[in-house]
Amino acid sequence: MRVLVTGGAGFIGSNYIHYMLGQYDDVSIINVDALTYAGNLRNLKDVDQSKQYQFVRADITDRSALEPLFAEGLAAVVHFAAESHVDRSITQPDLFVRTNVLGTQTLLELARQYNVGKFVHVSTDEVYGTLGEDGLFTETTPLAPNSPYSASKAGSDLLVRAYHETYGLPVNITRCSNNYGPYQFPEKLIPLMLQRAMDDQPLPVYGDGLNIRDWLYVEDHCSAIDLVLRKGKKGEVYNIGGRNERTNLQVVRTILAELGKPESLITYVEDRLGHDRRYAIDADRIRNELGWTPKHDYESGIRETIRWYQANKQWLDDVRSGAYRAYYDTRYGGS
Ligand code: NAD
Repeated sequence: MRVLVTGGAGFIGSNYIHYMLGQYDDVSIINVDALTYAGNLRNLKDVDQSKQYQFVRADITDRSALEPLFAEGLAAVVHFAAESHVDRSITQPDLFVRTNVLGTQTLLELARQYNVGKFVHVSTDEVYGTLGEDGLFTETTPLAPNSPYSASKAGSDLLVRAYHETYGLPVNITRCSNNYGPYQFPEKLIPLMLQRAMDDQPLPVYGDGLNIRDWLYVEDHCSAIDLVLRKGKKGEVYNIGGRNERTNLQVVRTILAELGKPESLITYVEDRLGHDRRYAIDADRIRNELGWTPKHDYESGIRETIRWYQANKQWLDDVRSGAYRAYYDTRYGGS
């Protein structure tokens, strides 16, 4: 089974490649990644030499770079590549439209032309907008994105849907809640706070710290995507989440407690523009129809994650200093 993974040098994509190569001997993965600031080939050091793995540096909007890979025949595309950070989308929305919307459309067009067997589009619960105190997002919740990031993801979701409805492309869309785990770029809440707490720096918490996210350990997201790839009903959307709602403040306090650092490090900063208040996922469809169950509960998953970052502090420091770029610039040419 020849699978093209986009964005495999990022957080979830690299975890997914590890997961797939750990599970299957008969899968070969082509990882297409532009290596933006968020792409880090060190995440894949241990699979670099595997016969089942190949890396191609390319931008997903670059049709001519991608076409030869499709022309060789692909069983599936699993599409992670995206600009993924909400804060960056507020200052650079055009980049988000380019990669997330145009990049997805470029891949869809190639998938259609070369009869790809399955196109799994990895999306986010953020396309549903924000919840009040009650209720959960289901797959039929109307899309109501509030940030340029979530709007660009919603745009890509609609194109994926249209390629199914118009051309019969076999697609699935997954919409997962917030992930945490190894190899996450330290601009995102958990690795950012961990790194700063380990260095005894103030921890900037947006607004009142009471925004709620529904956390899922990244490996459980990967197992869900694998199930959708293999068994997902064509054209279907699957929500993915572990029912682990926590306020940002709760997450930060857990990190401080685990590291033995004082709560006086918490500093409240001006809230993010358009900051969604609460996300929470109803994942009954994937649980009931595909038999997915997450393996990690939040308490043990977060402790495991904290231990991973403590053991890999150098990874965090290198990412922050940009030193990891030297690793792939010498191997694949500078950007
Ligand atoms: P990430 O930012 O860590 O990784 C994104 C990867 O895409 C990087 O390796 C980057 O180099 C690559 N990339 C960016 N632009 C590209 C382009 N134009 N061409 C080729 N490659 C490009 O993101 P992540 O957190 O791993 O998220 C992966 C996917 O999962 C995204 O589509 C995101 O919307 C979705 N998602 C993320 C979360 C989360 O909590 N992180 C939750 C739900 C869904």
